[in-house]
Amino acid sequence: MSDEIYDVVVVGAGVEGSAAAYYLAKRGKKTLLLEQFPLPHSRGSSHGQSRITRKAYSQDFYTEMMHEATDIWRQLEREAGWEVFRQTGFIAIGQYKGDFLEDNISSLKRNNAQFEYLTPVDFRRRYPMLRYPNDFSCVADPDGGILRADKALMAYQTMFKTFGGRLIDGAMVTNIKRGNIVTLETPNATYRGRSVIICPGPWASQILRPFGVKLPLKTLRISVMYWKERDNGSHASSKLLPFYEKAVRRCRGYDVYGLPNEEYPGHVKICLHSGPDIDTELRDQADDKWVIDLMKGYVREHFPSLEPSPSIVETCIYTNTPDEHPVLDYIPGNRNIVVGVGFSGHGFKLSPVVGKVLGQLACGETPSYSLTPFRIDRFPPQAGL
Ligand SMILES: Cc1cc2nc3c(=O)[nH]c(=O)nc-3n(C[C@H](O)[C@H](O)[C@H](O)COP(=O)(O)OP(=O)(O)OC[C@H]3O[C@@H](n4cnc5c(N)ncnc54)[C@H](O)[C@@H]3O)c2cc1C
Repeated sequence: MSDEIYDVVVVGAGVEGSAAAYYLAKRGKKTLLLEQFPLPHSRGSSHGQSRITRKAYSQDFYTEMMHEATDIWRQLEREAGWEVFRQTGFIAIGQYKGDFLEDNISSLKRNNAQFEYLTPVDFRRRYPMLRYPNDFSCVADPDGGILRADKALMAYQTMFKTFGGRLIDGAMVTNIKRGNIVTLETPNATYRGRSVIICPGPWASQILRPFGVKLPLKTLRISVMYWKERDNGSHASSKLLPFYEKAVRRCRGYDVYGLPNEEYPGHVKICLHSGPDIDTELRDQADDKWVIDLMKGYVREHFPSLEPSPSIVETCIYTNTPDEHPVLDYIPGNRNIVVGVGFSGHGFKLSPVVGKVLGQLACGETPSYSLTPFRIDRFPPQAGL
C-alpha cells in the first residue's frame, strides 16, 4: 500500500462518479477515480450515443437543478472542445389539461423556465408524423435537447485528468474499510482516501452489503430500439423533438421516450421506459421479447411513417428506486462515505449537479440543494442482507 492519501476516492466511472470526480478535481481536491472495467465499456448505464435533457419535470426540485446542470453542460463542452449538448428543445406529450402536462407546467412556471403549451390542434399541426388521440398535446421546453452521452462521459473523464485527477480503470473495489482514513482494496492495489463517494450503478447491492445497507433497488434491462424511417429525414430534429410520453393507458401503464433521427442515419430511437427485472450478472439471459412486441404495436399505432420492427436493438440498465428518485446521502453512521445510486433511468442530465452535491457531501460541506427527496433513510431497512 502506498503512503499516498487522496482527499476523495470515487468508486465507479459511470456518468455520476465521473461528474463527481470532475467537480472535485476542478476544485483542486486530490481525487482518485476507480472503475472496475477497462474504459470505455458498455455494461452499465452511461454508454450510448444520446440522452434526453430537459427542464420539464413534474417535480420542482429537478427543474431547479436543471438550470445549473444546463450551465455546467455548456462549461464542460467549452473546456473539452467538442459538442456535448445539442439544444433542440424537448416535448412532454400527454393528455391536454391532464395531470402530467399540468404538473410539468407548474414546475416550469415556479422555476421561471420557458415553455409553450400547445393545443391538441396545434400539436397535430406541428408534429404531423405523430398519431396520438385527439385530446393529446404537448408542453414544449425550449431549453431541452440531446446530450451526446459517450462524448459527455469522455469530456468529464478527460477534464478530470486535465485538472489533475487520477483515473484507474480495470480496478474493481472489492473491500472498503471504514475509518478517518478509508482504505479501498482492489485485486492489484490498495488505496486510501479521507472520503469516499460510491457511484456503483447496477452493482450497488454488492458494494453496499458490507455496510449493512440494503436498498430496495431494481435493476431493469432496457432495450434501446431504433426504427427506420420509411421516408428519409421525416423525423429529423428540425421536425421532431426529443420526447417523453406519459403512456398511462395505452402502453400497459409504461411511459415511452424517443429521440429524432440523429444517431444512426434514417433511424429514430423510441424506447419503453422499463424492461425486465434482471440480475446484473445474468443480464444477457433476460427475456425482453415482451418489450419489443409492445413497442412494435406502439410504433405501428403512433408513428405510421416508421417501419414497425426495430432494425437495431442495443441494451442498457436502469437502477430504479421505488419512488424513482436517487439516493444522494452518507452511508448511515459514516460521515466520510457517500453514495449516489438509483437514478431510475433519468440521471444523465442531472449528473453535473449530482456530481457537485456528492462532492460537497464528501468535503463535509452543506450541499447547494435540499437533499431531502434523496435521503437514504426514506426507505425502511430491508431484511436479508
Ligand atoms: C437506455 C437508457 C436510456 C436513458 N435515457 C436517459 C435520458 O434520456 N436522460 C437521462 O437523464 N438519463 C437517461 N438514462 C439514465 C442515465 O443514463 C443513468 O441514470 C446514468 O447513466 C446512471 O449512471 P451511474 O454512474 O449511476 O451508473 P453506471 O453508468 O452504471 O456507472 C456505474 C459504474 O460503477 C462501476 N462499478 C460498479 N461497482 C464497482 C466496483 N466495485 N469497483 C469499481 N467500479 C465499480 C461500474 O462498472 C460502472 O462503470 C438512461 C439510461 C438508460 C439505460
